[in-house]
Amino acid sequence: MYALDLNGVKRRPASTGDRATCPSCGCSMIAHVGEIYCHHWAHEKNDDCDAWAQESSWHQEWKSHALPERTEVVIERNGKRHRADIQFLSDDVVELQHGTLSPSDIRAREEFYVRGLWLYDGSSIGFSEDRVHWGRNGGFWWKNGPQRLAHHRWPIWLDLGPVIVRVSINVVWNRKSEGRRVVGKPLQQSNRVDFQQFIASNTGAAWRPVQNDE
Ligand SMILES: [Zn+2]
Repeated sequence: MYALDLNGVKRRPASTGDRATCPSCGCSMIAHVGEIYCHHWAHEKNDDCDAWAQESSWHQEWKSHALPERTEVVIERNGKRHRADIQFLSDDVVELQHGTLSPSDIRAREEFYVRGLWLYDGSSIGFSEDRVHWGRNGGFWWKNGPQRLAHHRWPIWLDLGPVIVRVSINVVWNRKSEGRRVVGKPLQQSNRVDFQQFIASNTGAAWRPVQNDE
C-alpha cells in the first residue's frame, strides 16, 4: 500500500507508472493503478522482497484505519527483515491474513514478531454458514475447517463482515466419523466499526469512519 518517495515519506500509489522506493529493500517500485486489482506498488525488477507480504483490497481496507507510520512497518530481527501489516504503539502487530498458512509459517511469524494478533478474512478460509454448525453449548463444529489454525498462539480474530469474532480453535477426534474435527468457541465479539476504532486508537490514529466500499 505504501512506498517511499524521494523525501522518504510513505506514499500510496496515485497513478500508474509513478516511481518510489521499497521501504524494506530500497529497490525501485512502480505504481499500478487500475480498475481490476487494488492499487498497489510493485517491485520494478523482482518479486516482492518480503515473501510474507500479501496485498488485497481487504488488506488495504484494514490498514487504512491505522496511521501510515504504523502500517507496513519494517522490522529487523536476527538479520531478517519483514513488514508487519500493522504495528500498535505497544509493538504488538496485527497480521492480516487472507487464506491459511502452514503451521511452520504460523510459528515463524509469531516468533519473529513476538507479540500480536491475527485477523483472518473469514470468507477466505471457509468460515461460512453452510460449513459452520453451531451447537447448543455456544461452540461450533467447522466442517472441513483448517486444522492448521489450531497451531496459533496469538489470538485469532475472524472478520465475518458486520462482526469480528475472536475464536479458539481445536482439533478433536470424532468417534462417529472416525476423523478429526475442527471445533471452536467464540471468545469475544466486536462490531466492525468498533474493531476499526480499536485498530485506529492503538496506532495513534484519530478515529474516522471509512466506507467499506471505498
Ligand atoms: Zn523490497
